[in-house]
Amino acid sequence: MAQSVAGPEIERLIQLLARLPGLGPRSARRAALHLIKKRETLLNPLSEAMRVANERIVVCSSCGNVDTSDPCTICRDHRRDASIIVVVEDVSDLWALERSGAINALYHVLGGVLSPLDGVRPEHLNLDRLVERATQSGVAEVILALSATVDGQTTAHYITDLLNHLPVKVTKLAHGVPVGGELDYLDEGTLSAAIRQRTTF
Ligand code: ZN
Repeated sequence: MAQSVAGPEIERLIQLLARLPGLGPRSARRAALHLIKKRETLLNPLSEAMRVANERIVVCSSCGNVDTSDPCTICRDHRRDASIIVVVEDVSDLWALERSGAINALYHVLGGVLSPLDGVRPEHLNLDRLVERATQSGVAEVILALSATVDGQTTAHYITDLLNHLPVKVTKLAHGVPVGGELDYLDEGTLSAAIRQRTTF
């Protein structure tokens, strides 16, 4: 094992940074050193921002989004088209769709997809609340923005059956879009096109 170049406090900072997505041990060391050098302008405000965020983070009881208020900023936004609910696997998909500006609707975060292999069953997902929301008057369409994987499609069929008795249209994103924690990697034009070219499920 390589020798430590710094005291345990700094080593701990490096180890924690290395757990972030996209950062390996080498870039974590670089990031740690950068933070230490920019103590006043970066390390102090960052640790304060993390402390405040950590204290206030809540999961929205309506849609499953993470925010610092419940209901979340999106659910409270009355300028949105509340007749459309976009169903996504993960909060990262919601953020990607929002960033693309592809649609000005409400969302529903499932928290995963059904997966017999991984033991993910309907009761593990945020499905009851989705049915409740879709039952509310004024909801006309549910867009399933789920991955093109077998599990994603199984989940899409399951949800379509769940909503079958309701007077809502169920649609899915244009074919061939890799989604489900992967929406983030798509450029905004592709995302917008996938929403525009959605088809009835
Ligand atoms: Zn919400």
